[in-house]
Amino acid sequence: MKTIEHFVNGNSFLGSSKRTSDVFNPATGEVSAKVNLASKKDVDDVVAVAKNAFIKWSQVSPLQRSRILFKFKNLIEQNTDELTKLIVSEHGKVYDDAKGSLTRGLEVVEFACGIPHLLKGEFTENVGGGVDSWSIRQPLGVCAGITPFNFPAMVPMWMFPLAIACGNTFILKPSEKDPSCPLMLGKLLKEAGLPDGVFNVVNGDKESVDSLLSNPDVSAISFVGSTPIAKYIYENAAKFEKRVQALGGAKNHCVVMPDADLDQTVAGLMGAAYGSAGERCMAQSVAVAIGDIGDELVSRLTKEVQKLKVGPGMDKSSEMGPLVTGQHLEKVTGYIDIGVKEGAKLVVDGRKFQKLQGYEKGFYIGGSLFDHVTPNMRIYKEEIFGPVLSVVRAKDFNEAINLINNHEFGNGVSIFTRDGNSARTFTSHIKVGMVGINIPIPVPMAFHSFGGWKRSLFGDHHVHGMEGVRFYTKLKTVTSRWPTGKASASFTMPTMS
Ligand code: NAD
Repeated sequence: MKTIEHFVNGNSFLGSSKRTSDVFNPATGEVSAKVNLASKKDVDDVVAVAKNAFIKWSQVSPLQRSRILFKFKNLIEQNTDELTKLIVSEHGKVYDDAKGSLTRGLEVVEFACGIPHLLKGEFTENVGGGVDSWSIRQPLGVCAGITPFNFPAMVPMWMFPLAIACGNTFILKPSEKDPSCPLMLGKLLKEAGLPDGVFNVVNGDKESVDSLLSNPDVSAISFVGSTPIAKYIYENAAKFEKRVQALGGAKNHCVVMPDADLDQTVAGLMGAAYGSAGERCMAQSVAVAIGDIGDELVSRLTKEVQKLKVGPGMDKSSEMGPLVTGQHLEKVTGYIDIGVKEGAKLVVDGRKFQKLQGYEKGFYIGGSLFDHVTPNMRIYKEEIFGPVLSVVRAKDFNEAINLINNHEFGNGVSIFTRDGNSARTFTSHIKVGMVGINIPIPVPMAFHSFGGWKRSLFGDHHVHGMEGVRFYTKLKTVTSRWPTGKASASFTMPTMS
């Protein structure tokens, strides 16, 4: 059985803990490896390594850091196939989807390559007689990233390229469910010329997360995962006086206006609800049908959901792969049972998915479609994180806005309409962080910033883009005067008068 270790100071690191966790191949249901789960001592050792590496790395010029990132970008491109296969083999999503997620991560590397420009400060000449003032952004120190299973490459890459470009050192604690791709990214960074200790990967569970939170030498924590853990991270990181951004769960609505182009809407909803088996924080899990468009929408969706091709991620004909683990499959199945008990109409039942020959033990489920879901139901309120789309009927536009604004989560939202005024009003009034207008998955590009509202994000900074640069740097403002002529003490507050 393969053992997956940590990556510390440029090398594989076994760690002192004897605890391990199973890593599955979701397509076959087999255990493919055991991953070592770091102990507190292991984490403290890694933090010491990263703290030491910071001394030199923070003094490397932005242009030199950028050159390493350019080489890293080239190496990712050269190794795209291998990285993609690692994602498919441990997450289960289909090959092209996994490749696309890697590309979205790569785009953050490309953005971070521009760090010499991004770190340019502000300068004002002559703020007072002979006095100049300027601002600089300096790195924080050791930063840590704790990431979820659903994007083993992209979500870590929302964080570490900018963190290290800004002059920090980084410790990544990826999901223990799919740790291999993040480890390979570490090896590629080394190959690109990144000094040892600047980027480290520590595998683990709650023990390693708690150790990162309490270690005084960790300056900042970026977290992406479920809302209860995001809240825990936010509270504890703050308790230990760290900078923190903690992105949580989601329930993304797609408002379908009566004037929407239904071909475009249904195509968009299919990809957004069932792509990656619904295991995306930007998955559309609720379609809000306005007025009398509901019947037509459900009828069209039904045909498409029934046609979904579910199969192993490496099979080019599969549109949707298996879920990540057997445990997650049980959770999603359980939610479908709940929806039925709650009285929602199960139009397409993914539980009836026939076992695939040769893949009988894989974690597969078909796409499910619920109609007449109401806001009091658990399948509406809670995040299912599987291929289950709920249709809610709303009598008008205002009812839809109120529904969405009253929901616990506020990650992403879309509206499908041909009417500019509806789209504009929606954009202005909706309490959600990322909005799509006739765009089903409005994930911002690397040079903008990603983040939700309400209980989808705890903290003040979104990730990547300029928000990322701000998160990973501290602002310092300098006011300077060079001695000229006679000096005299002044005991009043300095002003321009
Ligand atoms: P999770 O919260 O279970 O795990 C996330 C990370 O936290 C993992 O590294 C895990 O090891 C660690 N962790 C788990 N339990 C912990 C505990 N008790 N104490 C300390 N650390 C703990 O999330 P997941 O199941 O891996 O990922 C799915 C979730 O992530 C979904 O809720 C999804 O919406 C969310 N997500 C959000 C975004 C976003 O941008 N808002 C993006 C991707 C995923």
